Amino acid sequence: MSLAKRRGFVFQSSEIYGGLGSVWDYGPLGVELKKNIKERWWRSMVHERHDIEGLDAAILMHPKVWEASGHVSGFTDPLVDCKHCKNRFRADDPRIKGTPGQPDAQCPVCGSKGTLTAPRQFNLMFKTFMGPVEEQAAVIYLRPETAQGIYVNYLNVLQSSRQKIPFGIAQVGKAFRNEITPGNFIFRTREFEQMEMQFFVKPGSETEWFEFWRAERMSWVKGLGIRDEKLRWHQHDKNELAHYAKDAYDIQYEFPFGWQEFEGIHNRTDFDLSNHQKHAGKKLDYLDPKTNERFIPYVVETSAGADRTSLVVLCDAYREEEVRGEEAADGGEQRVVLKLKPSLAPLKAAVFPLVNKDGMPELAHRIHDDLRRHFNVFYDDGGSIGRRYRRQDEAGTPYGITIDGQSTQDQTVTVRDRDTLKQDRVAAGKVVEYLTQKLAG
Ligand code: ATP
Repeated sequence: MSLAKRRGFVFQSSEIYGGLGSVWDYGPLGVELKKNIKERWWRSMVHERHDIEGLDAAILMHPKVWEASGHVSGFTDPLVDCKHCKNRFRADDPRIKGTPGQPDAQCPVCGSKGTLTAPRQFNLMFKTFMGPVEEQAAVIYLRPETAQGIYVNYLNVLQSSRQKIPFGIAQVGKAFRNEITPGNFIFRTREFEQMEMQFFVKPGSETEWFEFWRAERMSWVKGLGIRDEKLRWHQHDKNELAHYAKDAYDIQYEFPFGWQEFEGIHNRTDFDLSNHQKHAGKKLDYLDPKTNERFIPYVVETSAGADRTSLVVLCDAYREEEVRGEEAADGGEQRVVLKLKPSLAPLKAAVFPLVNKDGMPELAHRIHDDLRRHFNVFYDDGGSIGRRYRRQDEAGTPYGITIDGQSTQDQTVTVRDRDTLKQDRVAAGKVVEYLTQKLAG
């Protein structure tokens, strides 16, 4: 967290006012990292597939959507209040001793006995009002998942894109949940971004597609460069399954705070489309042109968090290690480095004139101007070269380009590799080509 702030990945929202609980802002490097992850997802889910279309539905939706989806009645956590100190807890908070609502229950904050209420259901959706009048009829919700925007548009997309089942719709966008126990940095926040894909299939084929998407998604996650031993599957048991799901697997990562989900693959059956058909009174079934059968498609969902995936990538890349050799002072030196996959790194290279004289800045600026037409690059002429390398190590920048005394003589520069610390000498005019090759993948 300290590195994320220091280097400009993530800041607390409204920090100068003391911060807003579990809401975070992405700084100059964070916005690039998250964008690279989202673009990679979009490329693999939409552009590289003939059977998936993209969508960007609005955050605000008709309130009946959330009745049909089950969120008004079912998207709740049981909460208890302390009548003495007025604090509120999840009923399953492990710090609570005794049974809430009974005299033996003890408040984990003020320690009073018998002051905890019996659990009451609390809805996690954010409410707001549409239009000028703040009355019950004007209540609408900030969407708690992007999926519903896909379901209510499924016929629009099907008809306009001329897709046939099986096909999918993908969307990246914000979702909001009034989480009761948020925390762990950007792991659980109240405003977050989801990358969701709903795949519509013929009933009976959903198990096969479910397995297909499980394999695809794990392979995509591994493609982010995450270490194998930090990844595992977790199948939901009966108690964990969401109100809509028949089967569900999470991809979990071993965070510093334990194994936790960052993506889910869900078999949602025809739950959502059937309910929308019922509540909206509009036919949402599909006529199979080959067999003339009518059916409501089953849905296999892949649902990932862009913020949680960013956290996985950051945690997995973070290393503290000893540097030896030329770059280290006598006896070695500690460095913090983000070993980000180069294609995900916010900055692809940094340009360093060794000193600010003897024609080095001029050449360095020329190279920087040339590079930034192709990549996101950084120019740094402040402080010792060692300090500049360390700053870029912390930013996860894979290449450092140094313009030294020799450069102005023979128009070559050194390119330092963040991970191996090896330096190659490259002709100044070939740096773009060199980096393009290195950054592929
Ligand atoms: P959890 O049990 O951790 O709250 P969930 O099972 O409710 O998650 P889903 O509804 O399946 O999560 O959401 C799919 C994905 O959306 C999650 O894997 C996660 O990456 C992301 N996500 C969900 N809630 C949050 C949140 N409060 N903050 C950040 N990301 C979230």
